[in-house]
Amino acid sequence: MMQYKTVSEIHDAFDRGETTPSALTQKFLDRLKKSDHNAFLTAIDDRALGQAKAADEVIRTNGGKVPRAKMPLLGVPMGIKDALCIDGVRTTCGSKMLENYIPPYTATAVARLEAAGVISVGKLNMDEFAMGSSNENSAFGPVLHPTHRDRVPGGSSGGSSTAVAADLCFAALGSDTGGSIRLPASFCGVVGFKPTYGRVSRFGLVAFASSLDQIGPLTHSVEDAALIAEVMGGFDPKDSTSNPASIQGLAAEAKKQIEVKGLRIGIPKQYFIDGIQAEVREAIESTLAELTRRGAKLVPIDLPHTKYAVSTYYVVAVSEASSNLSRMDGIRFGVRPKEAMEADSPTEFYKRVRKNFGPEVKRRIILGTFALSSGYFDAYYTKACQVRRLIRQDFENAFQQVDLIATPVSATTAFKAGDKAKDPLQMYLTDIFTIPASLAGLPGISVPCGQDQAGLPIGMQILGPRMEDVRVLQAANLIERIHGGKA
Ligand code: GLN
Repeated sequence: MMQYKTVSEIHDAFDRGETTPSALTQKFLDRLKKSDHNAFLTAIDDRALGQAKAADEVIRTNGGKVPRAKMPLLGVPMGIKDALCIDGVRTTCGSKMLENYIPPYTATAVARLEAAGVISVGKLNMDEFAMGSSNENSAFGPVLHPTHRDRVPGGSSGGSSTAVAADLCFAALGSDTGGSIRLPASFCGVVGFKPTYGRVSRFGLVAFASSLDQIGPLTHSVEDAALIAEVMGGFDPKDSTSNPASIQGLAAEAKKQIEVKGLRIGIPKQYFIDGIQAEVREAIESTLAELTRRGAKLVPIDLPHTKYAVSTYYVVAVSEASSNLSRMDGIRFGVRPKEAMEADSPTEFYKRVRKNFGPEVKRRIILGTFALSSGYFDAYYTKACQVRRLIRQDFENAFQQVDLIATPVSATTAFKAGDKAKDPLQMYLTDIFTIPASLAGLPGISVPCGQDQAGLPIGMQILGPRMEDVRVLQAANLIERIHGGKA
């Protein structure tokens, strides 16, 4: 791992004159271009170096010191998942459909980070339209795991997790609809934070399933995850689902030590099932044992509707996706190949445009269209919304008795590339532990808590009640300290 573990260490190094934003940016640009992980789809050279130069200048005119209060992320090189728009920078969303799309605006999350000094060094590979768990669904080829090349990095933000773990950028943005930040973070051994739904504006994020999508950071430390979430989060009038509550002070609060004595940690029996890899179970249990030694209380809880979560998600998510992706019609958005222009009917035109979607995206559009069709709407979509309410209610009931919930992120460590790619149902089940919190809109984090015998990272998931992001971050901070203070 590179010599700086946190943003604060980078800023100390800038203050000492040990390095500069320009030097650091150049270093990451060189590394990301040399890497063969396929984590980046686009390197952003000139724009990034321009931002870096401006950051050098800010430090110079501030007496050689970083103005931390005003620019809390000054000179920090980040990778941005290619689902987020940056004005003038190609944004593909991992799809042939948007292969040459250059958006005329920047996502709020990215704009806020850049205003705080972030340098966007490149756009990160991902599963097409964020549909997947292994990053094998990108139209631009799979992303390799940072250390074990025969393994998947997790998806859909696999470019983000590999890039951070392999030091191709210092931190990254991902998006999480059913686990796409937490799962890849756990497979690659970095921190992945999904804030409460609505805390980070979705404006400028290519929509997959709007009632679930949430942007979040992947980082080396919990401290940085909190900092990035605070800077990019908070109300945004451009997103109608944006939560009006202030997010100010999140990073400072997250740094405070959690009162572990008497902390009630819920252990849902539905998440500690047979079939969990033994080493994953042991890593989670030994971390929990250490928490109890420090005074926490483990409380068995029941989340009875968990077994319906994956099916519910795959009705809600595909329904929303089929609607959201209808704009990729070659007229409003999406490629318009010459052969489509030569079509002799609108139907033929659409066919020639929409065949540019990959197989997983097509499957979901078909499923979603079916679920929303008249005659089936109530049986599928309405029913799924009702079950979603029950799942949310399960969590609300549990949080009457506990402060937080601890679970594995995934039943196994990173699996072999190709293992599940042929069987969509097997792939869908990898998200079994992350999807329920997405349906309920809860804040969740994946924090490294060990390794298996092959040296593959294991992640622990901490979930909190809605808007209790601070509590989740504080607990993750403690777990990070237990495991040696490094992510
Ligand atoms: N793997 C899940 C899916 O394929 C979740 C993806 C995500 O969170 N974007 O839908």
